[in-house]
Amino acid sequence: MQPKIWLSSPHMGGKERDYVTEAFDTNWVAPLGPNVNGFEKDLEQYLGDGVHVAALSAGTAALHLGLVLLGVQPGDEVICQSMTFSASANPIAYLGAIPVFVDSEPDTWNMSPEFLEAAIMDRLAKGKNVKAIIPVHLYGMPVKMDEIMAIAHRYGIPVLEDAAEALGSSINGKMCGTFGDIAALSFNGNKIITTSGGGALVSANAEIVEKSRFLSTQARDTAPHYEHSHIGYNYRMSNICAGIGRGQMEVVDSRVERRRAIYQWYRNEMNGMPGISFVEEPEGFFSNRWLSTILIDPEKTGGMTRETLRLALEAENIESRPLWKPMHMQPVFEKYPYFGNGVSERLFENGLCLPSGSNLEEGDLARIKTVLQNCGCVAV
Ligand SMILES: *Cc1c(COP(=O)(O)O)cnc(C)c1O
Repeated sequence: MQPKIWLSSPHMGGKERDYVTEAFDTNWVAPLGPNVNGFEKDLEQYLGDGVHVAALSAGTAALHLGLVLLGVQPGDEVICQSMTFSASANPIAYLGAIPVFVDSEPDTWNMSPEFLEAAIMDRLAKGKNVKAIIPVHLYGMPVKMDEIMAIAHRYGIPVLEDAAEALGSSINGKMCGTFGDIAALSFNGNKIITTSGGGALVSANAEIVEKSRFLSTQARDTAPHYEHSHIGYNYRMSNICAGIGRGQMEVVDSRVERRRAIYQWYRNEMNGMPGISFVEEPEGFFSNRWLSTILIDPEKTGGMTRETLRLALEAENIESRPLWKPMHMQPVFEKYPYFGNGVSERLFENGLCLPSGSNLEEGDLARIKTVLQNCGCVAV
């Protein structure tokens, strides 16, 4: 058996080890220290627009604290993009709030502004407390943020931007993670850069970010003893993980460049093949192409489905995965309200994520190409 080709695996730049060694040498082996501060500064500089950043233990923790800081209470409602990873929606349930799911639109595969507005109008008419909106930049493709933010402002509802997959993506030069009132980043092992596991909360509001640091370290009030007037969490990033993050920030631009080149390679190889399509960047949109994704329409491929291709890749020890299964179709969430017309359902049915790691080598691409040819996705 040939070695496994992963969908997206960690790709170290080289300097990570130096930052981690320094943490050991200085005994900053704790959820605070120079690497945590340095990593936050690196991210603030990279994102720009005057944002502040708190490094946390996971992207999920950032989303959870984001909802806490937006004042979400049991029984409140939070509108969430349906097509996403479960971690976008789970924190709504942690707080005893109710998720309301919104479909995708076909241009970016992300939150439909039209169905967002329909959902808001319906829930408000029913007397519900809609406390937040969670759009998600799937696979690195930015959400139509101008339209989403305009609707959010019109109804006075804050936006918690899930940018877990979108570090390095932007719209007209403005970085994903700087649009919402609060944003969440992830540095899980499969993301565009990794800290092994980790995340960050981002906001232009310094007070919100300072509060997130307070809540993430057990909400300890100022006192010689342990004094608490808030419920706290243990969500701060470790100084060891942050050392990995500082090394990764030195190579983030080249990681984005490589992922985009891999996407272009797939795009060129499958160009013009009947039944195969891609999600293109709208004018001014820049995707980090975290994962390269395709749609396969079996009516135009002579019956070849995304499952045909997935199994053929698997037989060659190559990992691929269907697109996210929408949350309104998940057993754990299917009882909650949903607004849409089936776009995300069709994407799930026909879509596949292809190996996209920035560490893929030419030999890996050659193995992938052979399978694509055998399945009729690439001309022989
Ligand atoms: C990875 C991911 C998260 C969760 O981040 P973790 O760091 O793994 O907790 C949240 N939302 C989306 C869209 C993700 O892809």
